Amino acid sequence: MTQQAEKRGVDALTRDEVEIYLAGSCNTADDAAEIFGLDEDQVAAIMSECGHERCEGCGWWCEDGEIDIVDDEYICADCLDP
Ligand SMILES: [Zn+2]
Repeated sequence: MTQQAEKRGVDALTRDEVEIYLAGSCNTADDAAEIFGLDEDQVAAIMSECGHERCEGCGWWCEDGEIDIVDDEYICADCLDP
């Protein structure tokens, strides 16, 4: 398999592992990228596809429903209303 093909298709198992590693934690996309051999864009895409965004305030990965966009940044409910 070429590098290019691998880049396009992240297998389902890896997607699950990335989601489990990041969801409900404050691990960074950078950490996940290194552990799972991906790049940050791929990690961000996986998390966005499975409904998680990272709070720019506290770094916590939240579900879409728990996070608001303020000034083009994702901010979680805890950071909005401390
Ligand atoms: Zn937050």
